Amino acid sequence: MNVFERLANPWIRNLAVYEPGKPIEEVARELGFSSTAGIAKLASNENPLGPSPRAMEAMRAAASEMHRYPDGSAFYLTRAVARFLGVEEGSLVFGSGSNELIELLAHVFLGPGLNIVMAERAFVVYRLVAAAEHAHTILVPMRDGFTHDLAAMAAAVTPETRLVFIANPNNPTGTAVTPADVEEYMARVPDSVITVFDEAYIELMEEADRPDTLRLVREGRPVVLLRTFSKAYGLAGLRIGYAIAPPSCAALLHRVRQPFNVNAMALAAAEAALGDEEHVERTRRLVREGLDFFVRELTALGIPFVPSKANFLLVRTGRGREIFRELQAEKVIVRPMDGYGLPDYIRITIGTPQENRQCLEALKKVLHRRNG
Ligand SMILES: *Cc1c(COP(=O)(O)O)cnc(C)c1O
Repeated sequence: MNVFERLANPWIRNLAVYEPGKPIEEVARELGFSSTAGIAKLASNENPLGPSPRAMEAMRAAASEMHRYPDGSAFYLTRAVARFLGVEEGSLVFGSGSNELIELLAHVFLGPGLNIVMAERAFVVYRLVAAAEHAHTILVPMRDGFTHDLAAMAAAVTPETRLVFIANPNNPTGTAVTPADVEEYMARVPDSVITVFDEAYIELMEEADRPDTLRLVREGRPVVLLRTFSKAYGLAGLRIGYAIAPPSCAALLHRVRQPFNVNAMALAAAEAALGDEEHVERTRRLVREGLDFFVRELTALGIPFVPSKANFLLVRTGRGREIFRELQAEKVIVRPMDGYGLPDYIRITIGTPQENRQCLEALKKVLHRRNG
């Protein structure tokens, strides 16, 4: 062991490293393509329409002020989001992506001997941040069809539990819990724990399908909602997301964040993007049409998949890692799911209609070649 390894907290040494996809330029280079042109990157649940034109305009205008520190209080964005959602300004905390808020929650509420409860096939970041605080993760199996088993999750809570994470819709399964599921869960779960609803894709869902979690915050229940500008708003590269929580909880999160944790470009772009409901609506439509396309085609081909409420689809191709590699050679980048304990699956992000067709054709070719 070298000095660094010896001095590191022992629980950090063995942490698994989150594996993001490679840059598209590097994939192109490795495969011997002369450019990234024609490569469909459907690996990270990004918005295929790009940022809102209004956000781009705001970024161009903000560029000349980049020698200044950002507004550490996110004054204008806080006001805009509070009005947009109908919550108190004191309920909002912004971060460098909603992933930073997951980390801030861990700093405030977790530590050695404590635990979190989450579903077995839910977003991996929760257990990574718990492990970094030397807290345990209680993994609750999902129900058939990869939906959260909220009754089992409420029952899994122990005296050491601090946070219960519910990703709705969940990544990588695309499944969602219903408003009725959430009502029932909230009636069951002990008031001694905080439930975190990670709603990264919530804007893509039909209004009627969305549990009224904002009401829970307004009522002061022990809940935290996580939202982001990375998905429906198309600003993943800027890193901006936020938590919505009862003000006493938000105040604790503010204590552990860095004073300038959200950059000035992101603040400007997010505010502009929030005002561009049309762009979000276009995104929603594109995603729905793309999902319909895949559902129709995969069904016709007899390829199993998990019905999705988000902008991606978990598809059971068998041998996901190999299929991922072979699709790459066809200029289609998806995400293998072995890291999630789903070696037979790939996750496909919904792209533009052309990218979706390219992906489907490549998948047909690859599977056909395999099956002879
Ligand atoms: C993409 C995603 C996020 C958002 O991450 P950011 O840090 O806001 O980019 C959060 N939770 C889930 C489940 C996600 O899939």
